[in-house]
Amino acid sequence: MAAALRELARARILLSNDDGVHATGLKTLEKIARTLSDDVWVVAPEAEQSGASHSLTLRHPLRIRRLSDRHFAVDGTPTDSVLLAIRHILKDHPPDLVLSGVNRGGNLGEDVTYSGTIAAAMEGTLMGLPSIALSQLTDDAGPTKWATAERHAPELIRQLVSVEWPRNVYLNINFPNVPAGSVKGVEVTTQGRRKLGDHLIERHDPRGRPYYWIGPLRDEEPSLPNTDLSAVNQGIVSVTPLHLDLTHASMIATLREALTPTSE
Ligand code: MN
Repeated sequence: MAAALRELARARILLSNDDGVHATGLKTLEKIARTLSDDVWVVAPEAEQSGASHSLTLRHPLRIRRLSDRHFAVDGTPTDSVLLAIRHILKDHPPDLVLSGVNRGGNLGEDVTYSGTIAAAMEGTLMGLPSIALSQLTDDAGPTKWATAERHAPELIRQLVSVEWPRNVYLNINFPNVPAGSVKGVEVTTQGRRKLGDHLIERHDPRGRPYYWIGPLRDEEPSLPNTDLSAVNQGIVSVTPLHLDLTHASMIATLREALTPTSE
């Protein structure tokens, strides 16, 4: 059980993301974090790592670039960034809370298994720290409504860290793609489902060889009630508790029974 964060105002907060250290969403997250505490540190990937999932760089060395007193870029993944932040940069005074994001675009349904934003929160959780991933839904029609996350995140985070979380649990917050003043509340949701209706493009390079580009995955199932997808589609902020342990509990009994040798 992770103890509730009683003194958030004195907490050290580590920020990371998967859109890269220069992303607007990270600046938004820094504004959010600064309303909670003055002790805010940023350690984030040098380049965009969306879709990096929980990958760890093992086959080449990592470099840390200090951008300012409390801002660092790592030439690796979100997981590398959080790991180096906790084990090296902040080792003498580790953070009390890890926030990842604010991702440009939702992390809904199966997105969580691809997402580097989620992975940064997973890594914080593995290190025993309360960790929250934040994402702002957007579309290609206009600018991303960062003000929605900025307005609604501070109070929500305050409430979320005031309760005790079970071990290995982390939180996934998605802000709907509506103006800040149009948000219809907060709902605790389950992970929804996005059917993998893949959008794959095949083209040819100047030498005539084919190449492929994986596009956005569409065909959602927003009708499933109480899911992250259904909440944001109704203009509601979604909070989903996720678990590092991916075991499916009831399937254990089914498999044990199926694999029990039958006596003859
Ligand atoms: Mn991203």
